[in-house]
Amino acid sequence: TYLITTQKAILTPHAMAAACIFCKIIKGDIPSFKLFENERLLAFLDIQPLSLGHALVVPKHHGAKLTDIPDDSLTEILPVVKKLATAMDAENFNVLQNNGRLAHQEVDHVHFHMIPKPNQAEGLGIEWPAQ
Ligand code: IMP
Repeated sequence: TYLITTQKAILTPHAMAAACIFCKIIKGDIPSFKLFENERLLAFLDIQPLSLGHALVVPKHHGAKLTDIPDDSLTEILPVVKKLATAMDAENFNVLQNNGRLAHQEVDHVHFHMIPKPNQAEGLGIEWPAQ
């Protein structure tokens, strides 16, 4: 499970994926409010939303940063972000993607945030779970 270097012990890629909270969500081991899913990616609500409808889009294949995932996987993500924003009628929204601790990445599995501005996700007939 661990690779020992002279500097530090690091998890192997397999162990890293096994320990990854988003991989657990993708596998269904941790519950999530799913918004969209296909064979290659999943969109779900952020557990600590910055606004109503704050969503995350993740590739199912584990990769920590943008630079770790294949281009075709990347190409598929933005249309889903767009789909979510459209479905939520979010005229005003932010798309955010953090890489590395210094850039405020907390979960080491590539994810795109789609953050509607307040009031933009209301009135859609969607039963958002209590957050
Ligand atoms: P980051 O700072 O870009 O890495 O954002 C990670 C996001 O994942 C944060 O907005 C967290 O609220 C969110 N998050 C962490 N754990 C969970 C979870 O179990 N379900 C849904 N969202 C989560």
